[in-house]
Amino acid sequence: MGHEQTTVPFTVPSFADDVSDAVVKVLDSGWVTTGPQTASFEQDFADYLGAAHVVAVASCTTALELCLRAMDLPPGSAVLTPSLTFCGAINAILHAGHRPVLVDIDEDTLVPSPATVAAAAERAGRPAAMVVQNQGGYPVDVPALTEAAGLDRTRVIEDVAHGPGAGRDGAHAGSSSYAACFSFYATKNLPIGEGGAVATSDQDFADRIRATRLHGMSKDSWRRYLPGGSWRYDVRNVGLKANMTDIQAAIGRAQLTMLPRWQRRRAELVARYDEALAGLPGLVLPQRNLGGVRHAWHLYQIRVPERDALIAELEAAGVSTSVHFIPANQMTAYRSILGAEECGSVPVTDRVGEELLSLPLYPGLSPDGQDRVITALTEALRTRG
Ligand SMILES: *Cc1c(COP(=O)(O)O)cnc(C)c1O
Repeated sequence: MGHEQTTVPFTVPSFADDVSDAVVKVLDSGWVTTGPQTASFEQDFADYLGAAHVVAVASCTTALELCLRAMDLPPGSAVLTPSLTFCGAINAILHAGHRPVLVDIDEDTLVPSPATVAAAAERAGRPAAMVVQNQGGYPVDVPALTEAAGLDRTRVIEDVAHGPGAGRDGAHAGSSSYAACFSFYATKNLPIGEGGAVATSDQDFADRIRATRLHGMSKDSWRRYLPGGSWRYDVRNVGLKANMTDIQAAIGRAQLTMLPRWQRRRAELVARYDEALAGLPGLVLPQRNLGGVRHAWHLYQIRVPERDALIAELEAAGVSTSVHFIPANQMTAYRSILGAEECGSVPVTDRVGEELLSLPLYPGLSPDGQDRVITALTEALRTRG
Protein backbone atom coordinates (compact mmCIF):
# COMPACT_ATOMS: atom_id res chain seq x y z
CA MET A 1 0.00 0.00 0.00
CA GLY A 2 1.00 3.60 -0.55
CA HIS A 3 4.25 4.37 1.24
CA GLU A 4 4.29 7.74 -0.55
CA GLN A 5 1.56 9.71 1.19
CA THR A 6 0.11 12.84 -0.28
CA THR A 7 0.54 16.10 1.55
CA VAL A 8 -2.15 17.20 4.00
CA PRO A 9 -3.35 20.43 2.36
CA PHE A 10 -3.57 23.58 4.44
CA THR A 11 -7.18 24.08 3.39
CA VAL A 12 -9.83 22.50 1.17
CA PRO A 13 -13.23 24.11 0.63
CA SER A 14 -16.32 22.07 1.57
CA PHE A 15 -19.37 22.18 -0.67
CA ALA A 16 -22.94 21.20 0.12
CA ASP A 17 -24.32 18.26 -1.89
CA ASP A 18 -26.94 20.37 -3.64
CA VAL A 19 -24.55 23.10 -4.83
CA SER A 20 -24.33 21.70 -8.38
CA ASP A 21 -28.12 21.51 -8.75
CA ALA A 22 -28.43 25.05 -7.46
CA VAL A 23 -25.91 26.31 -10.03
CA VAL A 24 -27.55 24.45 -12.93
CA LYS A 25 -30.94 25.92 -11.98
CA VAL A 26 -29.53 29.43 -12.18
CA LEU A 27 -27.86 28.73 -15.54
CA ASP A 28 -31.16 27.36 -16.89
CA SER A 29 -33.17 30.29 -15.56
CA GLY A 30 -31.80 32.74 -18.12
CA TRP A 31 -30.67 35.21 -15.44
CA VAL A 32 -27.16 34.72 -14.09
CA THR A 33 -26.01 38.03 -12.66
CA THR A 34 -27.38 39.99 -9.66
CA GLY A 35 -31.08 39.15 -9.35
CA PRO A 36 -33.54 36.99 -7.41
CA GLN A 37 -30.95 34.54 -6.03
CA THR A 38 -28.84 37.42 -4.72
CA ALA A 39 -31.90 38.93 -3.00
CA SER A 40 -32.72 35.53 -1.44
CA PHE A 41 -29.13 34.96 -0.31
CA GLU A 42 -29.15 38.39 1.35
CA GLN A 43 -32.32 37.45 3.22
CA ASP A 44 -30.98 34.00 4.18
CA PHE A 45 -27.70 35.42 5.46
CA ALA A 46 -29.50 38.20 7.36
CA ASP A 47 -31.72 35.55 8.99
CA TYR A 48 -28.68 33.43 9.89
CA LEU A 49 -26.89 36.38 11.48
CA GLY A 50 -29.94 38.00 12.99
CA ALA A 51 -28.97 41.21 11.14
CA ALA A 52 -31.41 43.86 9.94
CA HIS A 53 -29.92 44.28 6.43
CA VAL A 54 -27.44 42.39 4.27
CA VAL A 55 -26.09 43.57 0.91
CA ALA A 56 -24.18 40.96 -1.10
CA VAL A 57 -21.10 42.17 -2.96
CA ALA A 58 -18.12 40.86 -4.93
CA SER A 59 -15.68 40.41 -2.04
CA CYS A 60 -14.90 41.42 1.51
CA THR A 61 -12.24 43.79 0.17
CA THR A 62 -14.81 45.69 -1.90
CA ALA A 63 -17.26 45.51 1.04
CA LEU A 64 -14.71 47.36 3.18
CA GLU A 65 -14.12 49.97 0.48
CA LEU A 66 -17.86 50.44 -0.12
CA CYS A 67 -18.44 50.97 3.61
CA LEU A 68 -15.61 53.52 3.87
CA ARG A 69 -16.92 55.39 0.82
CA ALA A 70 -20.48 55.34 2.16
CA MET A 71 -19.24 57.02 5.36
CA ASP A 72 -18.32 60.07 3.28
CA LEU A 73 -15.20 60.93 5.27
CA PRO A 74 -13.00 63.88 4.23
CA PRO A 75 -10.29 62.72 1.77
CA GLY A 76 -7.11 61.59 3.50
CA SER A 77 -8.84 60.78 6.80
CA ALA A 78 -7.00 58.72 9.42
CA VAL A 79 -8.54 55.24 9.62
CA LEU A 80 -7.39 52.91 12.40
CA THR A 81 -6.68 49.32 11.38
CA PRO A 82 -4.82 46.42 12.93
CA SER A 83 -1.48 45.86 11.20
CA LEU A 84 -1.98 42.12 11.71
CA THR A 85 -4.58 41.82 8.95
CA PHE A 86 -4.96 40.86 5.33
CA CYS A 87 -3.46 43.26 2.77
CA GLY A 88 -6.84 43.66 1.05
CA ALA A 89 -8.20 45.34 4.17
CA ILE A 90 -5.36 47.88 4.10
CA ASN A 91 -5.75 48.37 0.34
CA ALA A 92 -9.46 49.14 0.84
CA ILE A 93 -8.58 52.08 3.09
CA LEU A 94 -6.05 53.39 0.56
CA HIS A 95 -8.39 52.88 -2.42
CA ALA A 96 -11.09 54.81 -0.55
CA GLY A 97 -8.60 57.69 -0.38
CA HIS A 98 -7.69 57.49 3.30
CA ARG A 99 -4.66 57.00 5.52
CA PRO A 100 -4.29 53.74 7.46
CA VAL A 101 -3.14 54.22 11.06
CA LEU A 102 -1.73 50.97 12.40
CA VAL A 103 -2.99 49.50 15.67
CA ASP A 104 -0.97 46.98 17.66
CA ILE A 105 -2.43 43.74 19.04
CA ASP A 106 -2.93 42.20 22.43
CA GLU A 107 -0.65 39.20 22.45
CA ASP A 108 -3.16 36.72 23.91
CA THR A 109 -6.12 37.42 21.62
CA LEU A 110 -4.15 38.60 18.54
CA VAL A 111 -6.63 41.49 18.12
CA PRO A 112 -6.35 45.14 19.18
CA SER A 113 -7.19 45.92 22.80
CA PRO A 114 -8.79 49.13 24.09
CA ALA A 115 -5.28 50.20 25.18
CA THR A 116 -3.64 49.67 21.76
CA VAL A 117 -6.58 51.37 20.02
CA ALA A 118 -6.37 54.36 22.37
CA ALA A 119 -2.61 54.64 21.74
CA ALA A 120 -3.06 54.60 17.96
CA ALA A 121 -5.96 57.09 18.17
CA GLU A 122 -3.72 59.46 20.09
CA ARG A 123 -0.92 59.08 17.56
CA ALA A 124 -3.38 59.75 14.71
CA GLY A 125 -4.59 62.99 16.23
CA ARG A 126 -8.28 62.50 15.64
CA PRO A 127 -9.12 59.33 13.69
CA ALA A 128 -12.18 59.57 11.44
CA ALA A 129 -12.97 55.87 11.39
CA MET A 130 -11.74 52.43 12.41
CA VAL A 131 -11.66 48.94 10.95
CA VAL A 132 -11.59 46.13 13.52
CA GLN A 133 -10.98 42.51 12.61
CA ASN A 134 -11.96 39.15 14.10
CA GLN A 135 -8.51 37.57 13.75
CA GLY A 136 -8.74 33.80 13.26
CA GLY A 137 -12.42 33.87 14.24
CA TYR A 138 -12.07 35.52 17.66
CA PRO A 139 -14.87 38.11 17.89
CA VAL A 140 -13.55 41.50 18.97
CA ASP A 141 -15.44 43.54 21.56
CA VAL A 142 -16.64 46.20 19.11
CA PRO A 143 -18.29 48.58 21.63
CA ALA A 144 -15.17 48.59 23.86
CA LEU A 145 -12.84 49.33 20.93
CA THR A 146 -15.24 51.97 19.57
CA GLU A 147 -15.17 53.77 22.88
CA ALA A 148 -11.37 53.50 23.12
CA ALA A 149 -11.07 55.11 19.68
CA GLY A 150 -13.41 57.95 20.69
CA LEU A 151 -15.59 57.18 17.68
CA ASP A 152 -19.29 56.98 17.02
CA ARG A 153 -20.50 53.46 16.10
CA THR A 154 -21.33 54.78 12.61
CA ARG A 155 -17.59 55.21 11.98
CA VAL A 156 -16.54 51.66 12.85
CA ILE A 157 -16.34 48.79 10.37
CA GLU A 158 -16.10 45.21 11.58
CA ASP A 159 -14.06 42.94 9.26
CA VAL A 160 -15.74 39.59 9.88
CA ALA A 161 -13.93 37.76 7.07
CA HIS A 162 -12.88 35.11 9.62
CA GLY A 163 -16.09 35.23 11.52
CA PRO A 164 -19.29 33.70 10.22
CA GLY A 165 -19.98 31.45 13.20
CA ALA A 166 -18.34 33.78 15.74
CA GLY A 167 -20.38 35.50 18.41
CA ARG A 168 -20.58 37.31 21.71
CA ASP A 169 -23.26 36.92 24.36
CA GLY A 170 -25.37 34.73 22.07
CA ALA A 171 -25.35 37.19 19.14
CA HIS A 172 -23.53 36.60 15.85
CA ALA A 173 -20.48 38.79 15.20
CA GLY A 174 -21.55 41.67 12.99
CA SER A 175 -25.27 41.15 13.57
CA SER A 176 -25.83 44.48 15.30
CA SER A 177 -22.94 46.46 13.82
CA TYR A 178 -23.41 49.59 11.74
CA ALA A 179 -21.04 48.09 9.18
CA ALA A 180 -19.83 44.47 9.16
CA CYS A 181 -17.98 42.98 6.17
CA PHE A 182 -17.94 39.26 5.37
CA SER A 183 -15.90 37.19 2.90
CA PHE A 184 -17.00 34.09 1.00
CA TYR A 185 -13.55 33.56 -0.51
CA ALA A 186 -12.54 29.94 -1.20
CA THR A 187 -10.72 29.42 2.11
CA LYS A 188 -13.25 31.06 4.44
CA ASN A 189 -15.79 29.37 6.72
CA LEU A 190 -18.64 29.89 4.21
CA PRO A 191 -16.86 29.32 0.90
CA ILE A 192 -18.51 30.36 -2.36
CA GLY A 193 -15.22 30.82 -4.20
CA GLU A 194 -15.45 34.59 -4.34
CA GLY A 195 -17.98 36.89 -2.73
CA GLY A 196 -18.65 39.18 0.18
CA ALA A 197 -21.40 40.93 2.09
CA VAL A 198 -22.11 43.98 4.20
CA ALA A 199 -24.41 43.54 7.20
CA THR A 200 -25.79 46.70 8.73
CA SER A 201 -28.29 47.80 11.34
CA ASP A 202 -29.09 50.90 9.27
CA GLN A 203 -31.54 51.01 6.36
CA ASP A 204 -30.05 54.16 4.83
CA PHE A 205 -26.51 52.77 4.97
CA ALA A 206 -27.74 49.53 3.32
CA ASP A 207 -29.38 51.58 0.53
CA ARG A 208 -26.15 53.50 -0.11
CA ILE A 209 -24.10 50.28 -0.30
CA ARG A 210 -26.74 48.74 -2.57
CA ALA A 211 -26.49 51.65 -5.00
CA THR A 212 -22.70 51.94 -4.97
CA ARG A 213 -22.03 48.21 -5.43
CA LEU A 214 -23.23 48.61 -9.05
CA HIS A 215 -21.66 51.77 -10.48
CA GLY A 216 -23.99 54.03 -8.49
CA MET A 217 -26.91 53.28 -10.79
CA SER A 218 -30.29 54.11 -9.30
CA LYS A 219 -31.74 50.78 -10.53
CA ASP A 220 -29.91 47.56 -11.20
CA SER A 221 -30.51 45.83 -14.52
CA TRP A 222 -32.62 43.05 -12.99
CA ARG A 223 -35.12 45.62 -11.76
CA ARG A 224 -35.05 47.50 -15.06
CA TYR A 225 -35.89 44.31 -16.97
CA LEU A 226 -38.69 43.20 -14.60
CA PRO A 227 -42.23 43.52 -16.04
CA GLY A 228 -43.17 47.16 -15.74
CA GLY A 229 -39.48 48.08 -15.24
CA SER A 230 -38.15 51.10 -17.04
CA TRP A 231 -34.95 51.50 -19.08
CA ARG A 232 -34.31 54.82 -17.36
CA TYR A 233 -31.83 55.19 -14.52
CA ASP A 234 -29.68 57.87 -12.97
CA VAL A 235 -26.15 57.80 -11.52
CA ARG A 236 -26.15 59.74 -8.27
CA ASN A 237 -22.82 58.61 -6.83
CA VAL A 238 -19.75 57.25 -8.56
CA GLY A 239 -19.89 53.62 -7.47
CA LEU A 240 -17.80 50.50 -7.90
CA LYS A 241 -18.41 47.39 -9.96
CA ALA A 242 -18.78 45.15 -6.94
CA ASN A 243 -21.99 43.18 -7.30
CA MET A 244 -22.50 39.49 -6.51
CA THR A 245 -23.82 37.22 -9.27
CA ASP A 246 -26.85 34.92 -8.91
CA ILE A 247 -24.53 31.96 -9.56
CA GLN A 248 -22.49 32.88 -6.48
CA ALA A 249 -25.65 33.60 -4.48
CA ALA A 250 -27.19 30.21 -5.30
CA ILE A 251 -23.98 28.50 -4.13
CA GLY A 252 -24.05 30.64 -0.99
CA ARG A 253 -27.64 29.67 -0.18
CA ALA A 254 -26.84 25.95 -0.43
CA GLN A 255 -23.62 26.44 1.56
CA LEU A 256 -25.41 28.32 4.33
CA THR A 257 -27.55 25.28 5.18
CA MET A 258 -24.33 23.40 6.00
CA LEU A 259 -22.58 26.13 7.97
CA PRO A 260 -23.76 25.12 11.49
CA ARG A 261 -22.60 21.54 10.90
CA TRP A 262 -19.25 22.72 9.53
CA GLN A 263 -18.79 25.00 12.53
CA ARG A 264 -19.37 22.08 14.91
CA ARG A 265 -16.80 20.04 12.99
CA ARG A 266 -14.26 22.87 13.29
CA ALA A 267 -14.82 22.98 17.06
CA GLU A 268 -14.29 19.20 17.33
CA LEU A 269 -11.02 19.42 15.39
CA VAL A 270 -9.90 22.29 17.61
CA ALA A 271 -10.62 20.29 20.78
CA ARG A 272 -8.55 17.44 19.35
CA TYR A 273 -5.63 19.75 18.53
CA ASP A 274 -5.84 21.30 22.00
CA GLU A 275 -5.63 17.93 23.68
CA ALA A 276 -2.89 16.47 21.47
CA LEU A 277 -0.65 19.57 21.43
CA ALA A 278 -0.95 20.64 25.07
CA GLY A 279 2.44 20.79 26.76
CA LEU A 280 4.60 20.52 23.63
CA PRO A 281 7.83 22.41 24.24
CA GLY A 282 7.90 25.98 23.00
CA LEU A 283 4.34 25.93 21.73
CA VAL A 284 1.68 28.51 22.62
CA LEU A 285 -1.83 27.29 21.74
CA PRO A 286 -4.63 29.66 20.70
CA GLN A 287 -6.13 31.77 23.42
CA ARG A 288 -8.58 29.83 25.53
CA ASN A 289 -10.10 32.46 27.80
CA LEU A 290 -13.38 32.61 25.93
CA GLY A 291 -15.99 33.61 28.52
CA GLY A 292 -19.17 34.67 26.70
CA VAL A 293 -17.35 34.40 23.39
CA ARG A 294 -18.02 31.95 20.56
CA HIS A 295 -14.88 31.51 18.43
CA ALA A 296 -15.50 30.79 14.75
CA TRP A 297 -12.28 28.76 14.49
CA HIS A 298 -11.50 29.96 11.00
CA LEU A 299 -7.85 29.40 11.93
CA TYR A 300 -5.97 27.33 14.47
CA GLN A 301 -3.05 29.68 15.10
CA ILE A 302 -0.22 28.50 17.28
CA ARG A 303 2.87 30.46 18.26
CA VAL A 304 6.26 28.87 18.00
CA PRO A 305 9.86 30.15 18.00
CA GLU A 306 11.93 29.61 14.83
CA ARG A 307 8.70 29.30 12.89
CA ASP A 308 10.16 29.54 9.39
CA ALA A 309 12.35 26.47 9.91
CA LEU A 310 9.38 24.57 11.34
CA ILE A 311 7.25 25.42 8.28
CA ALA A 312 9.90 23.83 6.05
CA GLU A 313 10.18 20.76 8.31
CA LEU A 314 6.41 20.27 8.32
CA GLU A 315 6.24 20.68 4.54
CA ALA A 316 8.98 18.02 4.20
CA ALA A 317 6.90 15.75 6.46
CA GLY A 318 3.85 16.21 4.19
CA VAL A 319 1.96 18.89 6.12
CA SER A 320 1.09 22.26 4.58
CA THR A 321 0.65 25.22 6.87
CA SER A 322 0.16 28.95 6.47
CA VAL A 323 0.80 32.27 8.22
CA HIS A 324 -1.89 34.82 9.13
CA PHE A 325 -0.58 37.30 8.59
CA ILE A 326 2.70 38.78 7.56
CA PRO A 327 2.06 42.11 9.31
CA ALA A 328 1.11 44.92 6.94
CA ASN A 329 3.78 47.20 8.44
CA GLN A 330 6.45 44.84 7.03
CA MET A 331 5.19 45.05 3.44
CA THR A 332 7.12 47.12 0.89
CA ALA A 333 4.17 49.15 -0.43
CA TYR A 334 2.85 50.17 2.99
CA ARG A 335 6.33 50.98 4.27
CA SER A 336 6.80 53.35 1.38
CA ILE A 337 3.32 54.92 1.73
CA LEU A 338 3.13 55.13 5.52
CA GLY A 339 6.80 55.62 6.35
CA ALA A 340 9.24 53.86 8.64
CA GLU A 341 8.08 55.61 11.80
CA GLU A 342 4.42 54.60 11.41
CA CYS A 343 5.48 51.07 10.42
CA GLY A 344 7.68 50.87 13.51
CA SER A 345 4.80 51.62 15.87
CA VAL A 346 3.46 48.08 16.39
CA PRO A 347 6.14 46.15 18.35
CA VAL A 348 3.87 43.36 19.63
CA THR A 349 2.65 42.69 16.09
CA ASP A 350 6.28 42.48 14.90
CA ARG A 351 7.32 40.11 17.70
CA VAL A 352 4.24 37.85 17.69
CA GLY A 353 4.00 37.99 13.88
CA GLU A 354 7.33 36.12 13.66
CA GLU A 355 5.88 33.20 15.62
CA LEU A 356 2.38 32.74 14.20
CA LEU A 357 1.63 29.51 12.40
CA SER A 358 -1.77 28.34 11.14
CA LEU A 359 -2.34 24.56 11.10
CA PRO A 360 -4.73 22.78 8.71
CA LEU A 361 -8.31 23.26 9.97
CA TYR A 362 -11.37 22.67 7.79
CA PRO A 363 -14.51 20.53 8.00
CA GLY A 364 -13.14 18.02 5.48
CA LEU A 365 -9.93 17.37 7.45
CA SER A 366 -10.04 13.65 8.25
CA PRO A 367 -9.00 12.22 11.64
CA ASP A 368 -6.10 10.57 9.79
CA GLY A 369 -5.04 13.86 8.22
CA GLN A 370 -5.20 15.59 11.58
CA ASP A 371 -3.15 12.80 13.17
CA ARG A 372 -0.47 13.35 10.56
CA VAL A 373 -0.37 17.06 11.41
CA ILE A 374 -0.11 16.27 15.12
CA THR A 375 2.60 13.62 14.60
CA ALA A 376 4.67 15.79 12.27
CA LEU A 377 4.50 18.76 14.63
CA THR A 378 5.27 16.66 17.71
CA GLU A 379 8.28 15.04 16.05
CA ALA A 380 9.62 18.29 14.66
CA LEU A 381 9.50 19.93 18.08
CA ARG A 382 10.93 16.91 19.86
CA THR A 383 13.96 16.69 17.58
CA ARG A 384 14.71 20.31 18.37
CA GLY A 385 15.60 19.15 21.89
C1 LIG B 1 -9.83 37.14 3.28
C2 LIG B 1 -9.81 38.40 4.03
C3 LIG B 1 -10.27 39.60 3.48
C4 LIG B 1 -10.62 39.75 2.03
O1 LIG B 1 -11.62 38.92 1.61
P1 LIG B 1 -11.96 38.86 0.05
O2 LIG B 1 -13.38 38.37 0.04
O3 LIG B 1 -11.00 37.89 -0.56
O4 LIG B 1 -11.83 40.21 -0.51
C5 LIG B 1 -10.35 40.71 4.28
N1 LIG B 1 -9.96 40.67 5.57
C6 LIG B 1 -9.48 39.55 6.11
C7 LIG B 1 -9.08 39.57 7.55
C8 LIG B 1 -9.36 38.39 5.37
O5 LIG B 1 -8.84 37.28 5.90
